[in-house]
Amino acid sequence: MLSIRRLNTNDSQFWTDLKALLAWESVADEQITQTVRDIIRDVRNRGDNALLDYTNRFDRRTLQNSDELRVPDTRLQQSLATLEKNQRKALEKAAERVRAYHQRQLQDSWHYTEPDGTILGQQITPLDRVGIYVPGGKAAYPSSVLMNALPAKVAGVKEIIMVVPAPDNILNNMVLAAAAIAGVDKVYSVGGAQAVAALAYGTEKIAKVDKIVGPGNIYVATAKSMVFGAVGIDMIAGPSEILVVCDGQTDPDWIAMDLFSQAEHDEQAQSILVSPDAEFLEAVQNSINVLVEQMPRATIISTSMQNRGALIHVKDLNEAAEVANFIAPEHLELSVAEPQELVKKIRHAGAIFMGRYTAEALGDYCAGPNHVLPTSGTARFSSPLGVYDFQKRSSIIFCSEEGAHQLGQIATTLAQGEGLAAHARSAEYRILQNMLEGKK
Ligand code: NAD
Repeated sequence: MLSIRRLNTNDSQFWTDLKALLAWESVADEQITQTVRDIIRDVRNRGDNALLDYTNRFDRRTLQNSDELRVPDTRLQQSLATLEKNQRKALEKAAERVRAYHQRQLQDSWHYTEPDGTILGQQITPLDRVGIYVPGGKAAYPSSVLMNALPAKVAGVKEIIMVVPAPDNILNNMVLAAAAIAGVDKVYSVGGAQAVAALAYGTEKIAKVDKIVGPGNIYVATAKSMVFGAVGIDMIAGPSEILVVCDGQTDPDWIAMDLFSQAEHDEQAQSILVSPDAEFLEAVQNSINVLVEQMPRATIISTSMQNRGALIHVKDLNEAAEVANFIAPEHLELSVAEPQELVKKIRHAGAIFMGRYTAEALGDYCAGPNHVLPTSGTARFSSPLGVYDFQKRSSIIFCSEEGAHQLGQIATTLAQGEGLAAHARSAEYRILQNMLEGKK
């Protein structure tokens, strides 16, 4: 029997206990920080040679030449052509849905004209070149290829470079096929901090990118946090999380399996159930005990559920929403009779899965929205990966002569107030009266 933490909002310690349960230090390990710093420095100094050395060491490979790091385009096409029919169909269908969803996120440039002819606006430009990190140390993630590459493609990014480790020289066929479907431009079989460093600073073979996106283990996350500034990054992803709010009327087996679907990711994943029905919480605990035995990743699930999982008893669904907003989970399932009502009370969540039939797993693979989501409470201030991560905005300002006259007077006054004489004079030169008096 799994002993999963029980919490009750009636308990005066509840919010303190909940806070302790949620605590997770993202990039804290000193040893890992030092290792990653050394790897980045080495890749900056020795380029491809360092990349080759670390790849051979950490991924147990025997490469002789950095040319071997590039996965030939023909290999991508071959992977697609030889993929099992049902796998290819599933990938293509998922890609179609993810593309369609993200197309709706495209932002357009805009401008407006003021009465004096001044034009103000915002020009949208896709990034030139982005790097996509696809994890591959312990498992393969074809869905991550689609979720990271397709929004970039929709945004109009000119070049997409993908890196994925090939431990023991093994590259996953579905991952390569997904890269072909998504239209990735170049693939390199490198991973970890060394891959992030190569993308951030460039080597002889790998071109420097403008932004690095995609999840990875602690080495990847630490490296991304260190190269931020030299390049953009999407986010620092922590362990996966799911919060299920249930009114007690869904099959307890369904809910137990939804909790497992995140718990099986890793020992640090967090799966929490909130319900106003105490008997239902008991029923889910029973389902968990029975079903965990049947799971191939039972050990990871058990550790994760016992370390960081919880069953929370609340007064009612209003209080459940309050708990959900406090947690700001990556994934939130509203397994209730009227999810449309409850969702109005939700302010912080990466993705919200509404109703009893909407398993979070559907969103992981093929519903359409992105599965790269803010974790560790960062849904309070950030959003899922999307097309807007691959588009940037430039402000547009055009002043007519009359506009420069009007604005010049305001700017001059403010610049003088700040003691910035050149600013003031620059604006003043363009004030009509001065121009007429020949004070140019
Ligand atoms: P990974 O590709 O992130 O890491 C593998 C690399 O780690 C290796 O190539 C190696 O360079 C480096 N490494 C391993 N041990 C090292 C050491 N001792 N010193 C220096 N470098 C070392 O693959 P992974 O390990 O399987 O981790 C993938 C992670 O991504 C998991 O935590 C998984 O949950 C997460 N993930 C998240 C999402 C999401 O959408 N949030 C999706 C898929 C995967």
